Amino acid sequence: MDNATYEKYKQAGRIAAEARDYGVSLLKPGVRLLEVASCVEDRILKNDAGLAFPVNIALNSLAAHYSPTHDDPRMFQKGDVVKLDVGAHMDGYIADTAVTIELGTHQYADLIRASEEALTKVINVFTTQLPLSEAGKTIESTITSYGFKPIENLMGHGLKRYELHSGVSIPNVGALGGKSTLHDGDVIAIEPFATNGAGHVTSSQGSNIYLCKDTLKAKFIRDNKTKLVCEKIRNNFGSLPFAQRWYHTLFPKDDLTMKKLMILGVVKQYPQLVEAKGGMVTQKEHTVIVREDGCEVIT
Ligand code: MN
Ligand code: MN
Repeated sequence: MDNATYEKYKQAGRIAAEARDYGVSLLKPGVRLLEVASCVEDRILKNDAGLAFPVNIALNSLAAHYSPTHDDPRMFQKGDVVKLDVGAHMDGYIADTAVTIELGTHQYADLIRASEEALTKVINVFTTQLPLSEAGKTIESTITSYGFKPIENLMGHGLKRYELHSGVSIPNVGALGGKSTLHDGDVIAIEPFATNGAGHVTSSQGSNIYLCKDTLKAKFIRDNKTKLVCEKIRNNFGSLPFAQRWYHTLFPKDDLTMKKLMILGVVKQYPQLVEAKGGMVTQKEHTVIVREDGCEVIT
């Protein structure tokens, strides 16, 4: 990794982490999810970074993939276990980070600690020599030592320029990942999830988070309006996920065209990912640069 790229990663990391911590300061019962998501995104933009993905706010047994809609009425409540997941990029170089906060109660303090400690431990042993299954094993054994389960079908991931999930997966269990190792300078997000439920997630309803797929199908769009909307989506969001909220700002009264693009297979919506047995879920995530003798946390 050259020095200019390294500096961009460091900057993205600082801005994402600062926005995450600012978001945490806003989490209170009675506050709207929409308010927190908008404020955190504004903060990233004010710091001259780009939004790598919509701010994700996942409550309780929802593990990941929810972003408020433009008119989302939902409010935080006392006792909510909130996963706040934030991403910023500098010139396409992405930092991805998440934290779990329980609002006003301490019923799930151990579950929160389990995913936090799993992340700390795996970061402490991660090098270019560490087989990915060993990373998964470290996460799994830490979480099970608390009497909980890791979520086996959610994984950390490689990060590449303008690419949020770049092929390599960082498992949360020892049975996955095999003997493969990473290279010096690889950038990855590591994200242990812990639960008192089944230990896996299933897909649920829409997340309000979309992705414009790089597909030839866009070339065959016939009507001009759909074509125009598609171009504007590509110009604004490129290959990165975008929120219903952001689309709504561009096209306030045009949900129909979005539906058309989804039917055409040009745009897809991510599903919400819910714990299979309705277990409570916690998550902690950092982005790191992997080195021969360790790894550097940038968030
Ligand atoms: Mn994340
Ligand atoms: Mn991630």
